[in-house]
This record gives sequence, structure tokens and C-alpha cells, in this order.
Amino acid sequence: MDQFFKSNISAEIPNQFIAEIGDGCELWLKREDLLHPQVSGNKFRKLKYNLLEAQKGNYSSIITFGGAHSNHIAATAAAGKILGFKIFGIVRGEELENSKDRWSPTLKFAESCGMNFWFISREEYREKDSVDFLKTIREKYQDPYLIPEGGTNEKAIQGCSEILKEEDKKFRFVCSSVGTGGTLAGLINSSVENQQIFGFSSLKSNHLQTEISELVKKQNWKIVLDYHFGGYAKVDQSLIEFMNLFYKNYNIKLDPVYTGKLLFGIFDLAKKGYFPKGSKILAIHTGGLQGIEGMNQRLLKKNLPQIEY
Ligand SMILES: *Cc1c(COP(=O)(O)O)cnc(C)c1O
Repeated sequence: MDQFFKSNISAEIPNQFIAEIGDGCELWLKREDLLHPQVSGNKFRKLKYNLLEAQKGNYSSIITFGGAHSNHIAATAAAGKILGFKIFGIVRGEELENSKDRWSPTLKFAESCGMNFWFISREEYREKDSVDFLKTIREKYQDPYLIPEGGTNEKAIQGCSEILKEEDKKFRFVCSSVGTGGTLAGLINSSVENQQIFGFSSLKSNHLQTEISELVKKQNWKIVLDYHFGGYAKVDQSLIEFMNLFYKNYNIKLDPVYTGKLLFGIFDLAKKGYFPKGSKILAIHTGGLQGIEGMNQRLLKKNLPQIEY
């Protein structure tokens, strides 16, 4: 069996001190973005036990879902290739079927890993979790191992509970970006009593609090809703400028959908005196840098500044 998920590489990546912020608070960054060049950040964690399960069950193919810029699609394609699975992606946007010139860098990369696509309409995509649609998939792809959109299921949460290590117990605040909430659920499950886990929502949603409550038992966490910048994958000039400045100051790349918003939010809260004096804060760099090329193409069309890495 492949050693890909077996080695505990993250133990070798130390947390990185970023800056003193707020009232004598220390901000540190957990560099999950360095776990693997193509299966990056929390997607590595979320895939680990799913793909080990698929190997154990002798599945030959994996199928999953996502949008045209999805970090999860890119990571699943890369990991699937490394582990020798046939990989299928059900992607939102039927118009992409016959217009390869309009494919995002993400889709081109996933295809180069051997991912086969089925493009479906937005209406069909909304029904993707229905019993009927899942039955169609099982028949069409001969019973593949199925990973949900964004990769969140029980096995993904198990993987994400390996992000925090023994030495991280000293951090009073642990902050992470939130999409579906699987990553946050794993962090909450592995947190200790004196820690507060903050999930910075990357999207406009009032359901996250409820959805995550159903995944965890502890109560030492909350969702921060003030830094989604208008919704999922929405950006503005101030966010891009913040990311470019962050790169200039610390030589660390952030992504515009998740970690850029997270760090912007942490700095802003610290400036407003939100964190008690002298707090140690750990931010999780969940990766996601593959989406930058596609975002820059969209920024160009909108006359917004480029992400300059
Ligand atoms: C997918 C993703 C997230 C969100 O993770 P969830 O488990 O869906 O909440 C956060 N950051 C990055 C970089 C991601 O790619």
C-alpha cells in the first residue's frame, strides 16, 4: 500500500511566528499549505481516511463533486492519481462540456491528473445529494467510492482532528477558515478545554452554526461572520491589497477565498482589541493556493488589482 498518507509529515513543519498583533498578542501560523505541493492543506486531511477506506474496500474509482475552481477537485484529482484510482469529477456548469477553452486552471490541472468530468447544470447540481441522483451515479460509474462536495464527511473530520498537535495546547485561540465546516469540526474535536476555536466563514450563511453543532459535542467554538466579503469567492480591493501586503511582509501566500479572509479578519479583530492582552493565537493555513491563477483571470475582467506573488 502506498505510503502517501502514512507518513506524519506535518509533525516536521513547525508553526511559524507571524507578528505581534493587538495588545501584545502573538499570532502564529500552522503551515498546512506545505503538507504536499498538490494535495494541499485541509484537503490532504480530509482525503486521508477517505482514500485509505477506498483502498481497504478495493474500490477502483473515486467520484466527487465541485465547482470549476474547487480546491477539493484539484486535490482529489492529484491524490487519486498518486494512489492509482480512476477519478471522476461531477462539475457544476454544463456549458463547460464542449468549451475546453473556457476551462479554469483548476479543471485543466485535474484533467492532467486523469480526472474525467461530467458537467451538469446548476439545477441538476442542486439535486446532487438526492437518492435518485446518487443511484444514477452508482450505475453510471459502477459503484465508485463517493466523496461529497468539499470532501466533508465523518472520515474527513477524523483527518482534520490530526491538525492540532500536543504542542498547540498552549494557544488560547485557534482560528480557521470555514466552508462546509468539516475542518472546523475536526479542530473542535481535538481542542482542549481552555481553547477557543473560531471559524471565519468564507460565505454568507446563517446555517453554519447549526450545521457544525450537529457535528461536534464541545461548545468552545464560534463562527465569525464579519469577514466573508459579500459571499463565497467574492473579493474586493481591500482584500487583495491585504494579501499582497501580507506576502511582502511575511513571504507567505494566502488564497483569496479562504485564508486571505481569515488573516484579514484576525488582524482586524486584533486592531479592535478583541483578543485579551497577551493571547497566543494560532491561525491554520489551510492551503488553497491552486485557485489563485483562476482568480487573477477573474480580477482582470473586473478591473481589480492582481494578486502579486
Ligand atoms: C476547502 C477549504 C476550506 C474549507 O474547509 P471546510 O472543511 O469545507 O470548512 C478552507 N480553506 C481552504 C484553503 C480550503 O481549500
